[in-house]
Amino acid sequence: DEKTTLNQTTHIFKSKLPDIPINNTVPLHTYCFQKLPQISHRPCLITSSGKTYTYGDTHRASRNFAMGLFNLGIRKGDVIMILLPNSPEFVFSFWAASMLGAVSTPANPSYTSSEIMKQLKASKAIIVITHAMHVHKLKQEEENTFTVITVDNPPENCMSFSEISSMEGKLPEVDIAPDDMVTLPFSSGTTGLPKGVILTHRSLITNVAQVLDGKNPNLNMKEEDVVLCVLPLFHIYALHCVMLCSMRVGCTMLLKEKFEMRAMLELVEKHRVSVVMAVPPLVVALSKNPIAEEYDLSSIRMVMSGGAPLKANFEEAFHSRMPKAIFRQALGMTESGPVITMSLGFAKYPMTSKLESCGTVIRNAEMKIIDPLTGSSHSYNTLSEICIRGQQIMKGYLNDEKATAEAIDEEGWLHTGDIGYVDNDDEVFIVDRLKEIIKFKGYQVAPAELEGLLMSHPSIEDAAVVPQKDDVAGEVPVAFVVRSSNNGDFDLVTEDAVKDFIAKQVAFYKRPQRIIFIDKIPKSAIGKILRKELKAKLPIYQVNP
Ligand code: AMP
Repeated sequence: DEKTTLNQTTHIFKSKLPDIPINNTVPLHTYCFQKLPQISHRPCLITSSGKTYTYGDTHRASRNFAMGLFNLGIRKGDVIMILLPNSPEFVFSFWAASMLGAVSTPANPSYTSSEIMKQLKASKAIIVITHAMHVHKLKQEEENTFTVITVDNPPENCMSFSEISSMEGKLPEVDIAPDDMVTLPFSSGTTGLPKGVILTHRSLITNVAQVLDGKNPNLNMKEEDVVLCVLPLFHIYALHCVMLCSMRVGCTMLLKEKFEMRAMLELVEKHRVSVVMAVPPLVVALSKNPIAEEYDLSSIRMVMSGGAPLKANFEEAFHSRMPKAIFRQALGMTESGPVITMSLGFAKYPMTSKLESCGTVIRNAEMKIIDPLTGSSHSYNTLSEICIRGQQIMKGYLNDEKATAEAIDEEGWLHTGDIGYVDNDDEVFIVDRLKEIIKFKGYQVAPAELEGLLMSHPSIEDAAVVPQKDDVAGEVPVAFVVRSSNNGDFDLVTEDAVKDFIAKQVAFYKRPQRIIFIDKIPKSAIGKILRKELKAKLPIYQVNP
């Protein structure tokens, strides 16, 4: 499409699939449980220990927990934190919040206390649902009190998930508007610290419909599918592509708490898993790890990779080990609801798109590629920043108008901070990242967060964190550190001491793998860290063409 306004031409890319009508004015739970009357007997969730919950069970458990939360005083707009690994209670809590018109904020249970408390305070969550073993990380403060519910035996002053779910009462009808927030994941976006990303009922329904509804959708999941859910539901990728999409279709989700190769493959074999939603390290494990050859994985018909770039050689290895399975890729970002592009679903075996392609832009959306400096848009085959527009993108960052305005422009375009191009077949290739964010196995690491922590050390004067390419994790954080010269314990600030200092404060994947001491952090005239210069100092960093 070309739109000419005054003397500027805007090149807009659309899906090859026609737009479809999307009923995105109902609440998210209504949309995702739409088939409930027909499929209430079908399995919805299977846990790794083999316990099965039908769609009827899942809906009932979600309603019961909603009732319990209502009795505790939770009302429309209130925020509950889900601090759980993949588990039935994660699913029930998410839907309970949705049914009450309340909001869930999912968080990584392996976060340290300070990471959890930052999200808790920023989201103003008044309930935390977690395991007893994480309760010690939750600190009640005068200005910030909350109720803790544990899914296992509750420690002192905590409540029990099952008891709350057995309270009597009738769930009231709640008036939910399409633009009400339903979930609040945290993401650092293109710059700065993690921020709450407001996703509404409308945005999530739209994004599920964009990949799943209508004829020949990108994601052709079927009611008979068993989908492996080993990626964490607290990240938007699994929340959307596994949980919401599976439930909309009416297929089965196999919930696996953590990535353990053998245990995971046993489950795949036992439950005849047909769809695997993966991040690149999981694709690599399936394609290269010899253990995978010991199991019967013939039930897998589709594997999707997303969250971070996947190198061509791994995709090729995947095809040679699983020649019958369809491979797909998707580009997503929390702020974009999340899916931006995905391989098309109806192309024929064995490959649905070119190597390293992230597929084509989803339907009912517009994409453009702009020069980040001038804002002018490019047509095919030009490397520049990807922007996306449509009803699926976030409403904005919570309580942060400035960051919202930097992310979404006046015309409604979300600027992704990803650098890529569109080839002559409309396929999108991501080549580089304009933004600071580091992706360790698909997990977000915000340099600003680590830089803040480093500079809180009394003997560190300045710091900058950049990604280093890594074969296993994709990228790992590396810190450049300037020690303060007027401090006596200069020599004590060793690489190990700095690593230790950070390790105590952050989840494992954020830990800098190397500390490099330098005299000065290179900065622009206005004080911006010149990250490119630092990256160029790293030996194995590959500068993209
Ligand atoms: P998150 O908000 O955690 O989902 O991170 C979003 C970012 O992950 C995107 O803006 C990209 O930089 C990166 N990303 C996600 N999917 C892909 C992909 N298929 N290829 C390359 N980068 C990706």
